[in-house]
Amino acid sequence: MAWRPLLDFLFPPQCANCNALGSGLCDACAPRGHHVRIRLPSLAVTALAPYEGSLRAAVLALKDGRRDVAEALGRSVAPLVEPGSLLVPIPTTPKRRRARGLDGVALVARYAADIAGARVLLALEQRSGDAQRGRSRTQRLAAQGRFACSATTIAARRVILFDDVCTTGATLRDCAAAVREAGGLVEDAVVVAAALHEAGTREPATKSGHPWSKPTRN
Ligand SMILES: [Zn+2]
Repeated sequence: MAWRPLLDFLFPPQCANCNALGSGLCDACAPRGHHVRIRLPSLAVTALAPYEGSLRAAVLALKDGRRDVAEALGRSVAPLVEPGSLLVPIPTTPKRRRARGLDGVALVARYAADIAGARVLLALEQRSGDAQRGRSRTQRLAAQGRFACSATTIAARRVILFDDVCTTGATLRDCAAAVREAGGLVEDAVVVAAALHEAGTREPATKSGHPWSKPTRN
């Protein structure tokens, strides 16, 4: 992209946590160590790390529309993405996409997929407006049919859902249901961060590496 050097000159990438110049999340602040596995009723979720500290700062900066942070998070999460796989990002609402100028989750997915040798498929759409904001957990869990999936795009294809944070798991479960309804196959999700206090059953942490190659599925 020809405009990229100019953008980097005008707005140099800056760590979302410690403000060091050079990357949206510097090496010192990037999460390292163990990934988090969460078992939802119909989905195995792998998160880069818990939603806390520097990773939480980066996810919040991503929600503010920081492209440099999206790139840094994509780099961090890429080792969790299976080569050759098809990532389906959880979409934001068109209203929020317009307000921020980008869909942060889709952008992180693109950066990660580029590095991992995977592809991104924008197969999901969010139906309602800002329905989630300000709602209680019970209301969120009750929300069904929020997502629509294009059957022509996804039928008979195996995909991996991709999101920034897994909190209750309700959004991922709704999206998995929409994918399956459209004829797609989905058993796994990759997320940047896991808010463990609300998520589903947590499995013992696995060592960093390539979780898709481990025979731990059941
Ligand atoms: Zn930093």
